[in-house]
Amino acid sequence: MSILNKLVSERKAEDILEYAREFHGHVCPYLALGIRASLIAMDELGVGRLDYSESVDESILAIVEVKSCFTDGVQVTTGCTLGNNSLIYLDIGKNALTLVKRSTWEGVRVYIDAERLEKYYPPGAKEFFNKVIRERKGTAEERKQLKELWEKAAKNMLHIPREEFKIEHVNVPPIEQAPIFDSIRCSKCGELTMSRRVVYVDGRPFCLRCAEKEYYAVVGRGIVRIKGR
Ligand SMILES: [Zn+2]
Ligand SMILES: [Zn+2]
Repeated sequence: MSILNKLVSERKAEDILEYAREFHGHVCPYLALGIRASLIAMDELGVGRLDYSESVDESILAIVEVKSCFTDGVQVTTGCTLGNNSLIYLDIGKNALTLVKRSTWEGVRVYIDAERLEKYYPPGAKEFFNKVIRERKGTAEERKQLKELWEKAAKNMLHIPREEFKIEHVNVPPIEQAPIFDSIRCSKCGELTMSRRVVYVDGRPFCLRCAEKEYYAVVGRGIVRIKGR
């Protein structure tokens, strides 16, 4: 069993948070909430962190409704990642995770309401957050203070009682397994491109960039259509 899988099976939240720090770059409240929500969903669904065959078979999926620090906590804890196709991102904008078994499509959705989190923030944490992150104008000293307060808040979030979360058993509509597509060479740039992203102009294949078409991108605000990058 991998080290991280073992820590998750033993529910060692603080140690998982250290792995999450490596992955995410910093420790913050929503990273910790992603860990906490994942552990609750795993308890409820009776599954562990993805192992070798589960990650190859995409047999457990994590469906997140937000793309934020929370999502990274989920990826580290569940092992369902964007790259192994076991993380599904719904651009809905809620702090919720649904963990689901592909075998039966039984799932558990865990939602946390931000208004219930106020009491878990140390005094001053929100003010520093607004200045340093939201307004992007904190001094070096304020950034340092935010780091300390954020760590404290994160540690609190790891142990929020289950009652603070909305936990529901759900049936999830089936989601296809990631198909494998052939690649086709773009007539202009010469790069191989997944066939479903190739467009034909006068019978010749082009990648979306060379064809100057729009395509989807996941950016800070969510999923958007962009062109020409
Ligand atoms: Zn973060
Ligand atoms: Zn091209």
